Amino acid sequence: MPTEITVNADIAVNGRTYRWMDRPLVVVCVDGCQFEYITAAVAAGAAPFLGGLLAGAGSCFIADCVMPSFTNPNNLSIVTGVPPSVHGICGNYFFDPESGEEVMMNDPRHLRVGTILAAFSAAGAKVAVITAKDKLRKLLGSGMKGICFSSERADQVNLAENGIANVLDLVGMPVPSVYSAALSEFVFVAGVKLMERERPDLMYLSTTDYIQHKAAPGTPLANDFYAMIDRNLARLDALGATIVVTADHGMNAKHGADGQPKVIYLQDHIDAWLGQHQARVILPITDPYVVHHGALGSFALVYLPAPDTARAMAERIAALPGIEAVLTRAEAAARFELPSDRIGDLIVVSQLDTVIGTSRDRHDLSGLDVPLRSHGGTSEQKVPLLINRGLTQRTAPRRWRNFDAFDLGLNLATRTS
Ligand SMILES: [Zn+2]
Repeated sequence: MPTEITVNADIAVNGRTYRWMDRPLVVVCVDGCQFEYITAAVAAGAAPFLGGLLAGAGSCFIADCVMPSFTNPNNLSIVTGVPPSVHGICGNYFFDPESGEEVMMNDPRHLRVGTILAAFSAAGAKVAVITAKDKLRKLLGSGMKGICFSSERADQVNLAENGIANVLDLVGMPVPSVYSAALSEFVFVAGVKLMERERPDLMYLSTTDYIQHKAAPGTPLANDFYAMIDRNLARLDALGATIVVTADHGMNAKHGADGQPKVIYLQDHIDAWLGQHQARVILPITDPYVVHHGALGSFALVYLPAPDTARAMAERIAALPGIEAVLTRAEAAARFELPSDRIGDLIVVSQLDTVIGTSRDRHDLSGLDVPLRSHGGTSEQKVPLLINRGLTQRTAPRRWRNFDAFDLGLNLATRTS
């Protein structure tokens, strides 16, 4: 394989140093990829490339994602190499007690550090970012020169804003529905085409978890989706790229045997204890695309009228069936590496099969056409971290994180020379 990359100096970003790539590096964040999706697809014969990695053609780890186990905090951790306590993005929303408003965190002004992608692009690397949902595009592309677009808005791509034009022609697919497997397939097909045509030095691909919210590991729908991923990873591998595959979070069933979601309506409980509108429950999973999860996940923030009552309220909430942990602001900031100014007086995590809602009448569950699967808790923290290379050295046992993806791909993987 000819190597056309000019090797530049090492790049320091957010306290870590990354070696310049010896060949293209593709980091893939498969949204909602509980490890069992991969092993089940491999067992069914649907994912031979991933099966090869698991069997020893690559290196495979189980890593922890950051809490809350939501999409944006984890994508931003992967591209910055640091937890939310440093980069600041700890959900789709935070509550600003001074203005009394819920603030959406999808704008780069909320991001407190630069990204690895931006640093490499500033040093002359050719960088490309493709994301399924447009909500992530501006955050991932923050400060970066190069190609950056979403499949959701692939028909609106232009050279000035996205660094590329005519994406639909390049990919040969129509703009997919935001609720479809094709939204993610578009990301992969575009990634393969870009690798063939532009050969970026660094590429970040981020999919959406529409399928994982609907289908359990090993089901035909899930296996078909992983077969699509597998085909495209094999193409990137054949094109000579180093590939790191990880996930933003896992995914679990959140319903009872009757198929009904197991929900703790936390705002209703607290209102019954304190009176209406005294405390405020914020669900940072809430975003404009809630049809497939009804804004229900296993993580919530609580803002209290008197923060010195936090300890007593924590005990009361912890006694509700289905609650796994209730932490004060300081405890959560330390244990989950969260920015203390953007979380509540209490942080509530529910158990694997249970989700947390605000008030019953604020959740529209009519869009749930299959039993609820969701994420957000510590039960969705285990994610795959795979690479199609061996390692240059025996790495000491460590707590792998999904935000070690660039470290793994640039610093630890075997090189061509
Ligand atoms: Zn996600």
